[in-house]
Amino acid sequence: MVEAYTNKLLVIDLSLESHETINVPESLKQEYLGGKGFGAKLLFDGLAPGTDPLDPDNLLMFMTGPLTGTMAPAMRGCVVTKSPLTGIFLDSYFGGSFAPEIKYAGYDGLIIKGAAKKPVFIWIDDDRVEIRSAKGIWGTDALESNRLIKQELGDGSIKIAGIGQAGENLVSYALIACEYNRQAGRGGAGAVMGSKNLKAVAIRGTNPVKVYDADGFTRACEKAFRQLEKSPDVEGFRRTGTAGSVEFANETGLLPHKNYQNGTFSKASNLADKGQSKHLWLGSNACMGCPIRCSKIGAIRTGRYKGVVTDIVEYESAGLMGSNLDISDVRAVAHLVKLCDCYGMDSMSTGSVIGFAMEACEKGLIPSPQGIDLKFGSIEAAEYLIRAIAEGKEGLGELLSRGVKSAAERIGRGADAFAVHTKGLESPAWGPRGVSGMGLAYMTTDRGGCHQRGFPIGYELTGQWEGQTLDPLSPEGKAVMVASLQNYSAGTDTLVKCDFGSYGICADTYAELFSTATGRQITPEMFMETGERIWNLTRLFNLAEGMDSSKDTLPRRFVEEPLPDGPSKGHRISKKDMAYMKQEYYKIRGWNENGVPLDKTLQRLRIQYAQFN
Ligand code: SF4
Repeated sequence: MVEAYTNKLLVIDLSLESHETINVPESLKQEYLGGKGFGAKLLFDGLAPGTDPLDPDNLLMFMTGPLTGTMAPAMRGCVVTKSPLTGIFLDSYFGGSFAPEIKYAGYDGLIIKGAAKKPVFIWIDDDRVEIRSAKGIWGTDALESNRLIKQELGDGSIKIAGIGQAGENLVSYALIACEYNRQAGRGGAGAVMGSKNLKAVAIRGTNPVKVYDADGFTRACEKAFRQLEKSPDVEGFRRTGTAGSVEFANETGLLPHKNYQNGTFSKASNLADKGQSKHLWLGSNACMGCPIRCSKIGAIRTGRYKGVVTDIVEYESAGLMGSNLDISDVRAVAHLVKLCDCYGMDSMSTGSVIGFAMEACEKGLIPSPQGIDLKFGSIEAAEYLIRAIAEGKEGLGELLSRGVKSAAERIGRGADAFAVHTKGLESPAWGPRGVSGMGLAYMTTDRGGCHQRGFPIGYELTGQWEGQTLDPLSPEGKAVMVASLQNYSAGTDTLVKCDFGSYGICADTYAELFSTATGRQITPEMFMETGERIWNLTRLFNLAEGMDSSKDTLPRRFVEEPLPDGPSKGHRISKKDMAYMKQEYYKIRGWNENGVPLDKTLQRLRIQYAQFN
């Protein structure tokens, strides 16, 4: 049958210097659909609990969805592995053109295991696979290595996913750069790649992706494009990218300032779209085939960093590398984020780590490095720390390279009180004290505190979700909403769609795209059920790694310190509210009071869990 799956996975063993192609089991497609689901199931079945994420046995998977590489709009790729930052499940998404190329080369995904004895890169040219020496490129940054590999292979159109020095030095929040300006950013997949002595994967594909019902699929795509065009949210992303969220977050008191001590920043507008447009942006850019074009390509035009070529400073980076550090010059923030991109380091975690270090220094818990004034507002201190961390320097660089959680544990003396993370993943730039549902989402997200596995803020602030009235500060009604959003997110992440596409494309249209592309009829309810299945599977994976109910919690700052400013001034998410939301959430999920899925829940979802028991 012609369908959008290639039905093949390429497995590369770097220890054995071998590779093989395996068929995608029919049951995997039926129960897990693609992307996140495939990765979650393969990781659950293929990785023994307790495996060190940097052990050669860890799996590093680049997954596509059934619609990746087709003309369906706003589709991406994802990396699935066990995170060195959190020690639990990790899925991290990337745009650009690397994922479609995997499909064009004939694979639904790449599974990389083992570790090379010396630095290598993988070269996949359709069905020809080579493991090549990376001797000449090891030590280069993520952009330079991309250029050098293309030069060596003699084709500038090859697509490359690779690491910079941070991944080589096993920084726990190193990222994988997927072409120039797209990254699998969160959770440290770049360190897993570095632990395998793998500098990059280069790929070229020449096979078309076929669909089951070409006419029906074309109609579904046209519908999706129309829905995107009609959406005011999508129009907003097109105009301002995520930078448009800076002013919104500031007005609602959710913007992190000085390591989340405050929820507003008096100079926030400098970091928002107007400031970026004035100093950086030259034009719009997009991932392959995406009509939203949320990206803004440009260069710093004035001042000390003049000439640095830059992409948009995304909201998360503006928040965590800007307001969170009390830095208001958007040109400096763009420079710091670009440094992170080149070194191959997640700018969100990096900003959070630096904010933590600035506060720790102000509290006298760590010293300033010689010649540096480690305090909020210091661009020099931020740059110094980025370089020290990425380059694996002794002292502060090494201390901070394992993330906020690890640094706080090693410093001790109360540093945990201002270490802002959940399960080891540094928090996103949305302080949750004025929106308790966002807090619950952080508490329960499968990869650690994250805003991308259910984002209830819009519903909370408008006070409405599916006909129910919501009070953003109350714990009431949050569990059912968060569980539902998480199921939908996980279910549609099997398509490996971009989150922003969901602001226009409705569930029925995603179902139509899937059905016409694969020949398997699916309904929006089936996305929800698949999402719930995946969420329970990743829960089992995390429980087996020791992430029990006690870890479903929030950073102490959000629990113990009332917000000092903004519309929700005086509010915090109390232990009582956390406990209430958590137990409600467990009940709705069909888990026991310790957050363990009940047998009947797993049976209903047809989850085999022999490994867990
Ligand atoms: S909306 Fe932006 S990030 Fe998402 S696929 Fe389109 S261009 Fe890429």
